[in-house]
Amino acid sequence: MAEGIVMKKPDVHHANPLARTLLNKLDYDQLTNCMRCGFCLPACPTFRETGLEPESPRGRIALMKAVADGLMDPDQAFQDQMNHCLGCRACEPACPADVKYGQLIEQARDAIEDHAEHSLPVKGLRKIMFEGVFPSRSKLKLLGGSMRLYQKSGLQKLARGTGIMKLFPRHLREMEAILPESTSKGVVEQLGTFYPAKGEPIARVALFRGCIMDVMFAGTNVNTVKLLSEAGFDVVIPETQVCCGALHAHSGEMDGARGLARTNVAAFQSAGVDYIASNAGGCGALLVEYDHLLGEDDDPQVREAASWFASRVKDVSQLIVEKGRIPAFAELASEAEHGTVTYQDSCHLRNVMKSSSAPRQLMKSVEGVSYVEMKEADRCCGSAGIYNVTQPEMAGQILAHKMAHAANTQARYMLTSNPGCLLQMKHGIKKHKPPFKMEAMHIVDYLHERIAASSGDASKKR
Ligand code: SF4
Ligand code: SF4
Repeated sequence: MAEGIVMKKPDVHHANPLARTLLNKLDYDQLTNCMRCGFCLPACPTFRETGLEPESPRGRIALMKAVADGLMDPDQAFQDQMNHCLGCRACEPACPADVKYGQLIEQARDAIEDHAEHSLPVKGLRKIMFEGVFPSRSKLKLLGGSMRLYQKSGLQKLARGTGIMKLFPRHLREMEAILPESTSKGVVEQLGTFYPAKGEPIARVALFRGCIMDVMFAGTNVNTVKLLSEAGFDVVIPETQVCCGALHAHSGEMDGARGLARTNVAAFQSAGVDYIASNAGGCGALLVEYDHLLGEDDDPQVREAASWFASRVKDVSQLIVEKGRIPAFAELASEAEHGTVTYQDSCHLRNVMKSSSAPRQLMKSVEGVSYVEMKEADRCCGSAGIYNVTQPEMAGQILAHKMAHAANTQARYMLTSNPGCLLQMKHGIKKHKPPFKMEAMHIVDYLHERIAASSGDASKKR
């Protein structure tokens, strides 16, 4: 469509209440921007798995537009198609018309959620998690502490040994088996709110610590700060920051996501930083789009602050490669014979934050290590937030293909840049058992460990 022409929403009276909400929330301009070329189809994991048009980006956009135009009602099949989408956004870079598919699917899910009739337990759980736990640091710490107690007190062993876990669906049991050690001591409790640069500071960076990240992967947050310091950045960790809102946005809780975004924008602006570092692709992808998320906020100051925020967000690898001093990394002594590394892209990091070369550059800079590119490393691994829990069948199919490619690399380490992908890779290794030793790690942990190796300190690490 010619630039500058805005398509008016159709003047249709929808008898169906969900259809009215969809017409109201969907960006009709974006719907009409799709010219049905189909270039996005080969990039879409759900289309590749099924070969079905409604399971493709073009098909889903056509469904949304048909509802908006009053040609069909948003029945259960329509809602299922919206839920089958991984939200990986691999369709966006493939699209010559620059259709903002990610925004459309979030708008559709937001509308569906407005009319969802959840059972009482689901309603209660969503309220507890979205309104109680994710936005509250103190509740997250409590969650981390409780999980640690479960893991360390013997309760976890007891639950597994007595077979209680068998009462849960198989995919939940499988995910429970690979949960990392949790903690109530996040990065601030471990390092404080400021960590100085090693050598002359290049810039001042604020760490986005995340919600679940700081409970289940607090060690990675700590290593991120130390890695940034090694790369020449003064690091601050604003204490009043909260969850990014990505889980809310992907689950149709857009108002909740906007509330969290406003809190974060204020917290980071008052820290007066040059950059904001993210070490989780799923969080970073929403953070770089805060300007869009808060683009219709009533307060012009909030809109301006959101643009300030979004323009400063970078993935930790991007930040080190583009703005920092790349530290010296070296293989561990124990890896002399088998230290090959491969990498699974985080979809959001690659497709939204546009960071795919920086992590590879860092991995290739580790002295003595060979990097091998995995076939289709740019394809989703099936994790996609909580997709592997809500759509276990499709997630399992996608993961099986991924692990076949992983096995072909013969790599000792499978690195990722997102906690969800990391857990999915751990799950994949456990389930598909490559015929050699393979370990999944966050790229930050891997690199941090190899700084010590480079300074001749390797033996104490492994
Ligand atoms: S976001 Fe991913 S799964 Fe969804 S339509 Fe686009 S490519 Fe397909
Ligand atoms: S590539 Fe873009 S324009 Fe073409 S069908 Fe897909 S979404 Fe529509």
